[in-house]
Amino acid sequence: DEIYGISRWGRELIAVTDEGEVALCDPANPNTAPISLPGILRDLDQRGIAAPMVLRVRSFLEAEIAKINDSFAQAIARVNYRAPYRGVFPIKVNQQAQVVDRIVEFGRAYDYGLEAGSKPELVIAMAHRLSKDALIVCNGVKDAEFIRLAILSRRLGANTVIVLESPREAETVIEVSRELGLEPLLGVRVKLTHRIGGKWQESSGDRSTFGMNSDQLLRVTDRLREAGLLHCLKLQHSHLGSQVPDIQDVRRAVDEACRYFTALTDEGAPLTHLDLGGGLGVDYTGEKRATENSINYTVNEYCHNVVETVAYAMDEAELDHPVLVTESGRAVTATSSMLIFEALESTLYDAPAAPPPEPDDHHHVADLAAVAGYLVPERVQECWNDARFYRDELRALFRRGAVDLRQMARAEQIYLSLTARIKALVAQMDDRAELEAELQQVADVYHCNFSLFQSLPDVWAIDQLHPIVPLQMLNQAPDRRAILSDITCDSDGKIDQFIVAEGIAPSLPVHSLSEDQPYYFGVFFVGAYQETLGDLHNLFGDTNVVTIDLRADGGFDLLHEQEGDTISEVMSYVEYDPADCVAAFRKMVDEAISDGTVKAGERRALMNAYRDSINGYTYYERHAG
Ligand code: PLP
Repeated sequence: DEIYGISRWGRELIAVTDEGEVALCDPANPNTAPISLPGILRDLDQRGIAAPMVLRVRSFLEAEIAKINDSFAQAIARVNYRAPYRGVFPIKVNQQAQVVDRIVEFGRAYDYGLEAGSKPELVIAMAHRLSKDALIVCNGVKDAEFIRLAILSRRLGANTVIVLESPREAETVIEVSRELGLEPLLGVRVKLTHRIGGKWQESSGDRSTFGMNSDQLLRVTDRLREAGLLHCLKLQHSHLGSQVPDIQDVRRAVDEACRYFTALTDEGAPLTHLDLGGGLGVDYTGEKRATENSINYTVNEYCHNVVETVAYAMDEAELDHPVLVTESGRAVTATSSMLIFEALESTLYDAPAAPPPEPDDHHHVADLAAVAGYLVPERVQECWNDARFYRDELRALFRRGAVDLRQMARAEQIYLSLTARIKALVAQMDDRAELEAELQQVADVYHCNFSLFQSLPDVWAIDQLHPIVPLQMLNQAPDRRAILSDITCDSDGKIDQFIVAEGIAPSLPVHSLSEDQPYYFGVFFVGAYQETLGDLHNLFGDTNVVTIDLRADGGFDLLHEQEGDTISEVMSYVEYDPADCVAAFRKMVDEAISDGTVKAGERRALMNAYRDSINGYTYYERHAG
């Protein structure tokens, strides 16, 4: 725990048992004993469900929905705010039916609604029975069909708000509304000028691609007035960008949104709802600082700041308090899923002992071996410099053909044994933190059964950090450091930045792998954006997905299993017909039998091998074949 900083980022959700296993805590029942995650995996394994898998914990999802709604309710009571909070969950953040269904069901008591950014998402939203007062907020670019569906949904009592993104969209709404003879519920998306920090700063300020500037807003309000629809304009929307690191930015942006709200009200827009979009961040590292992967505020603080800022601005403008809407996605779903995968093997950056000298060694091989002779604490940096220098010289000589492969292999072994000795020496020294940090880069490679591109796309694309820890043996000191590589054939398919107790490290402390025990890693807080942004690199498909609920008696219920993609499924995604492929393969086998290169008796084994693969999991299978 102390090594990986679990108590810092794990909040009330993740703990470590006395047996050194990572465990899940039930946030609704903090007094029940944490449930061992490897224990859950052993149980699932017996049921035939194997890693890699995404494990969703319903209790975690419910706790986050409750937290944001309760925090807003508390802030509203504390500030004496005179309107309610009506949050909406943006479907794009996790579109999986298991997640959206649960959010709607659990959220009903809070009048929690949905945000749709596209036609498919609106279709999903409309298939859910929300509470009478809950909203469906439609963002994104909309064609007439999208708008027609949104307006018609009101006939079934849905509070579907069409957020106008441009003057052109206002024209389409006016046309469709006339054609249907029905009035829409409208919003306008405002482009705030305030720029936030963090990874999503481009989605705020002038370079934001969404929302209208003041001129466009005026054109839209004038046009709605002219068309007799200004009384339908009820909501003002703005979105700062995701994962806002600094609470000061939240305050400033909310303040600016309020300015637009009062100005549009002055223009005659009968606004009643202020939608502040997403942006509520997740403290992935647990640092509690305004950095790219952390935030300097809590959910409570966020809610209090929003409510207080709006109350103040509205009181000053002598306006009624508007209903508050936010579209938090990341903060609601991130913690509820984790990715679990197994280490398959390791490439150790290590050699226990240097090979003995040989008479025909190149003099640089001898120089390299000689470094061990002056390896003492006072000269450790010099030894490290020399070891790398001779190793690099020998590599250059090998490339020019001046050193043969056997010499090169001996040099690598000597270098690795030196590195191990230097690391061991530095670990005992107090004053060599910098060299120790540099040596952390020299790490083993643990080859693991997952695809970064499929399961952790933001780690690949935007250097997102997630807490990653071995799930077992945490009561034993890790004896190695590793980077993790996936099973795609892509050199980008690796994780080489980790959250550890001291901060961010270029390698992860791990234990030596053993033949008889599986060694699992958990990647935490992957419930937002990761599941559907992933791609089919090397045709690794969706992993198994298992939804569980934590029971008050310390056990768990398996609520749902969604089997990962089979090879035939991923083939069809790229437009192969698996049946055609079987037929083509069969034809080749039969031709080979005809021309005598394959025996007739081999046909069955060949066909079975091909068919079994096509029906199997795309990932490495321990028990396959
Ligand atoms: N609303 C809109 C319009 C968005 O574009 C986004 C995502 O960036 C969200 C809500 C969700 O944001 P977050 O996940 O930061 O809460």
